[in-house]
Amino acid sequence: MLLELRDLSVCYGRIQAVRGANLRLEAGEIVAVLGANGAGKSSMLGAAAGLLPVESGRILYEGRDVAGWGACRMVRSGACLVPEGRYVVGDMSVEENLLLGTVSRRQRDNLDGIYRLLPMLKERRGQQAGLLSGGEQQQLAIGRALMSDPKLLFIDEPTLGLAPKTARQVLELICALRAQGKTVLLVEQNVRQALRISDRVYRMEKGRLEERGGEKTVQNDGTAFCDF
Ligand code: ATP
Repeated sequence: MLLELRDLSVCYGRIQAVRGANLRLEAGEIVAVLGANGAGKSSMLGAAAGLLPVESGRILYEGRDVAGWGACRMVRSGACLVPEGRYVVGDMSVEENLLLGTVSRRQRDNLDGIYRLLPMLKERRGQQAGLLSGGEQQQLAIGRALMSDPKLLFIDEPTLGLAPKTARQVLELICALRAQGKTVLLVEQNVRQALRISDRVYRMEKGRLEERGGEKTVQNDGTAFCDF
């Protein structure tokens, strides 16, 4: 088991955003968390990635309780968040944005691998990141996370605001990452596409998380559905 959330709760003052969430993630899986706006998905990812404090419960990463570690230590241990909204720095170059993802000098060498995986970033490495399209900025946000050599990626709503074709390309990139041995916990609004690429699915509703095992059905044409 690479990651396990046990009875995890996350609060903002009196607002309880995540209520006793349980989740398991095996190495090499893509697991999707689906649910309406405000259900608590980003809060759960933020806590798992070390960006938000845990109210109660446990976060087990490679068997160790990492609640309270903080994002920097999580990244150094191979678990990195790609945040909703991408957060690229618009007036810095593409390459400078990528370098923001490194946590050691040695990781600068990872640029070559990222440019092989995402040649568009190489072509535009000297340009301001703010000039990239939404889909290109999403590639950059994923590339920036890859700079730290993560084994586990938390990816929050990567297709938000993207045209269907661009959204599909981003999800294909996530599949390619899995093929490279990465594990992905994916929050997605695009139910159909998320079901297509994920191994297992959870649904989040009003802070509560439930695995939707068994109902996922992949059809002959490769599409999948489930009773959401
Ligand atoms: P979305 O798809 O809109 O991002 P979500 O499922 O990711 O939704 P969260 O963003 O985790 O949901 O929000 C869960 C709950 O926590 C909501 O009621 C939201 O209003 C509340 N919340 C989120 N961030 C904060 C914050 N910084 N301060 C106070 N409340 C917050």
